[in-house]
Amino acid sequence: MAERMVVVGGDAAGMAAASQARRERGPRELEIVAFERGHFTSYSACGIPYWVSGDVAERDALIARTPQEHRERAIDLRMRTEVVELDVPGRRVRSRDLSDGSESWTGYDKLVLATGARPVRPALPGIDAPGVHGVQTLDDGQDLLESLAGTEGGRAVVVGAGYIGVEMAEALLKRGYEVTVVHRGEQPMSTLDPDMGRLVHEAMDGMGITTVGGAAVTGIRTGADGRARAVLTEDAEYPADVVVLGIGVEPETTLAAAAGLPLGAHGGLLTDLALRVRGHADIWAGGDCVEVLDLVSGAQRHIALGTHANKHGQIIGANAGGGYATFPGVVGTAVSKVCELEIARTGLRERDARRAGLRYVTATIESTNSAGYYPGAAPMTVKMLAEHRTGRLLGVQIVGREGAAKRVDIAAVALTAGMTVERMTTLDLGYAPPFSPVWDPVLVAARKAVTAVRAAGV
Ligand SMILES: Cc1cc2nc3c(=O)[nH]c(=O)nc-3n(C[C@H](O)[C@H](O)[C@H](O)COP(=O)(O)OP(=O)(O)OC[C@H]3O[C@@H](n4cnc5c(N)ncnc54)[C@H](O)[C@@H]3O)c2cc1C
Repeated sequence: MAERMVVVGGDAAGMAAASQARRERGPRELEIVAFERGHFTSYSACGIPYWVSGDVAERDALIARTPQEHRERAIDLRMRTEVVELDVPGRRVRSRDLSDGSESWTGYDKLVLATGARPVRPALPGIDAPGVHGVQTLDDGQDLLESLAGTEGGRAVVVGAGYIGVEMAEALLKRGYEVTVVHRGEQPMSTLDPDMGRLVHEAMDGMGITTVGGAAVTGIRTGADGRARAVLTEDAEYPADVVVLGIGVEPETTLAAAAGLPLGAHGGLLTDLALRVRGHADIWAGGDCVEVLDLVSGAQRHIALGTHANKHGQIIGANAGGGYATFPGVVGTAVSKVCELEIARTGLRERDARRAGLRYVTATIESTNSAGYYPGAAPMTVKMLAEHRTGRLLGVQIVGREGAAKRVDIAAVALTAGMTVERMTTLDLGYAPPFSPVWDPVLVAARKAVTAVRAAGV
């Protein structure tokens, strides 16, 4: 008789796991049942800002694979069906069909938890009013687009200035809104050090996006019709025809917690390197619901990114399908943009290095994305952290125009390889005037970091 693998969560990690397991083993050997409570499966939430902006014309362009396509590959995908209980000793899950409320139990030999993350939505007055939108799912994106219809040219307030906040600021600006971004941090993009975040702030000012830092939102003021009219902070009020929340996410581990599965300090599931839930040989977890090992600091972190979720899913599918694969950890690479400004980071910020007990030096350089004489050469700032004495690369942040963001991948590889900044200075990177100065900005930063390491002495 075929074994049964049950997957909870039908997006990036869950369906990547199901698809990979199916590649490993045919339907006669492995039955695969996947539960998804939403209306969509295998879609790119990452594309929502570009759909809202109008750069991507249609919602369906963000759907990588439909339920029918999964079913054609012998994956029994049950849409609009929520798993409401995990019975770990009994090796079964209880699910509820959201269309009629009926419930049933499904047994498993192998269980995959891929429940993702839920957006932070503080219990503030007015937070659930019409006109206040999250952007976590395609349904959220659709609701927002419907809310925007007829208010173009009005005022939009984005709460939060992480990558989702700044991407949504761009989207709303492109749709003709006067955009204000209200956030708690010293500078936008707290995934960067404040000195690099300041560059983002200045660039957003130049684009006509107002950013208000150090501001804790206390509520949403609504009009007589109940609709959001303004975002309130302790000392100001920001008028709004539409409000978008981008305050961050936390792991969706409600079911796992109720079942007594091990959670880390950030609320994510804890796994081994094969992505097996610790202490449970037949349960795997991946994507936004797990914590990952930071290879630079050695700490456990929760990083909600699609790039990890897809890899996790593939590794889980290989293992659950009878193969073997491991996920060693991450170095914390992330890229985003606001209009033409590209923003990238990998490794540790200064505060991460301090928290990890590391002594470090920093080097910040100004360069250009192409040879200075090449038409259209635009500025780029690179900040590099290196460990005191050893010179080991610890982190890189880049802010600049075209070609800035993906340069961070050089540093991601160097971090993964444990390179020193001195070793980096001789990397054989490509050069031609349209693509970089003869010394690539990352190499210029590495040279300056070498000098800083030497100057710091022992
Ligand atoms: C606006 C936006 C932009 C983004 N941009 C980027 C980007 O540029 N780059 C990047 O790397 N990442 C980006 N991300 C993050 C990326 O989308 C997520 O990291 C990725 O979707 C995580 O995949 P996942 O499968 O772990 O979780 P999710 O995609 O959250 O999927 C989990 C699924 O599980 C379902 N589920 C949960 N609980 C249950 C249950 N009990 N029963 C049944 N179903 C359940 C949910 O409905 C959901 O469909 C972005 C996210 C957003 C919202």
